[in-house]
Amino acid sequence: MYDLAIYGSGFAAYAAAQAAVRRGLKVAVIDKGGRDSLKQSLEMSQVSGNWEPIRSGGFDFGAADLKKFSHSPRFVGLGGTSAMWSGKWRPLDAIDFDREISGRKWPISYQDMRQNYQVVEKLFGFSTFTEPQLLESFKELQSCGIRVVPFAQEHEVTRLKQRWIDLQATSKVSLYEGATSIEFLADKGSVRSARIRHDTSNPLEVSAHNHLIAAGCIGSTELISALISKAPCSKNTKYTGYMDHPKGPIGKLIPRKNLDCLDAILSPTHPYIRFALALPEEELLKTGLPNSTIFLWGQSGYGAKLAHWYNRRSVSLIVNVDQFPEADNRLEVEPFTRANWRINGNTRRMLDRFLDLFIPRIEMAFGRVERLAWVPLRASSHPAGTTPLSKFPKEDWELTAEGRVSKFENIFCASSSAFPVCGSANPTMTVAALGNHIVHRLL
Ligand SMILES: Cc1cc2nc3c(=O)[nH]c(=O)nc-3n(C[C@H](O)[C@H](O)[C@H](O)COP(=O)(O)OP(=O)(O)OC[C@H]3O[C@@H](n4cnc5c(N)ncnc54)[C@H](O)[C@@H]3O)c2cc1C
Repeated sequence: MYDLAIYGSGFAAYAAAQAAVRRGLKVAVIDKGGRDSLKQSLEMSQVSGNWEPIRSGGFDFGAADLKKFSHSPRFVGLGGTSAMWSGKWRPLDAIDFDREISGRKWPISYQDMRQNYQVVEKLFGFSTFTEPQLLESFKELQSCGIRVVPFAQEHEVTRLKQRWIDLQATSKVSLYEGATSIEFLADKGSVRSARIRHDTSNPLEVSAHNHLIAAGCIGSTELISALISKAPCSKNTKYTGYMDHPKGPIGKLIPRKNLDCLDAILSPTHPYIRFALALPEEELLKTGLPNSTIFLWGQSGYGAKLAHWYNRRSVSLIVNVDQFPEADNRLEVEPFTRANWRINGNTRRMLDRFLDLFIPRIEMAFGRVERLAWVPLRASSHPAGTTPLSKFPKEDWELTAEGRVSKFENIFCASSSAFPVCGSANPTMTVAALGNHIVHRLL
């Protein structure tokens, strides 16, 4: 009998397992994928539907025949999507926890979440700490109505596969990989065990006092859907969510002033810290505008070229959009998983309002902006919000404020499917913080 069974082995699962290990708990980790072939894992992760084509800016999987999978929003295998991700850590902003969007709001306060963010920083060895002299150089931007947002960009990107193998060798963690099907066995609102099947062996039953679904947005939604279909409750198979931070180029900045400040943003002294530009939080609260951010090209990601700025004396501006939840954006899991994610009219209207307000401020701070008439927005690789946390869950697939699947007393979920609201931060730091939060505070 395990204290905790975790389904999935990405960042949420890893942070949760580490929190459980620190408390001396006995943990089973059950993953649909194995630890071998990248190609096989990517094939298993396909999702059908009208999904907006998903690419990760210039990401190279290292093998030409894998490029055709580069639209895949998830990875099935030990270590989860850490095999593909780009290593950009960013917490949500305080405002994302403070406001309600489309009837959704975080039931966890920013203050509470900050402690989890700090645990995650320690666990993965990075820091979003910003040096005081840098903050000082951004003061002038504040007077133009611009907020500067720091995030950490890893040089050596964290991949979790080997970390799991090491954890199994040194603690009370057992790995069950290649579980092609998982069936929860539940009585009277309590999950007793999971029956797992492998391709080659007889089913195996794993019993645990508590269960944590941490199978990414799509996998977690599928597992919750399968679980609630066992409870005496209505079954709805359309899960509304959103794509967190679709992005695209908005134009070009030709800077004339505040060049030292621009230098500090493009080429910070701290090797891991990068910056994005945003609207002040009070203004977002008052106006309801999206918490989108603007990145200066050359500061992050693969093939980043500061030379772009120094040689051509211009900087490309990229927007990361805060997309709000909408009925159009959804997962359907019956009879098979289909994703219907769109960059629709509402997102575009909000983006136009945001840019109309923000671009004059960038011009006031730095110089002329040559704005594109039409922003070619691309979906990001981050579906979210399909089984949101809620103080008062109205639907069977909504989670309680503690992250519990509401009809059951001992099964929780930590993944981006649980985000009620997202902002434009990359999701992984919050996904991992949620894994830590649920185990540390609630089990
Ligand atoms: C190309 C790319 C680049 C990215 N770059 C960034 C970035 O720079 N910064 C950032 O913050 N985020 C980034 N992301 C997103 C990031 O990868 C995810 O936010 C993160 O991996 C989510 O972690 P997770 O633990 O929730 O799920 P995942 O890492 O997706 O892991 C889910 C796990 O569940 C398993 N699983 C699935 N279904 C089942 C099931 N039914 N039963 C059991 N197990 C199951 C899978 O095998 C997998 O191990 C990127 C994503 C992609 C695709």
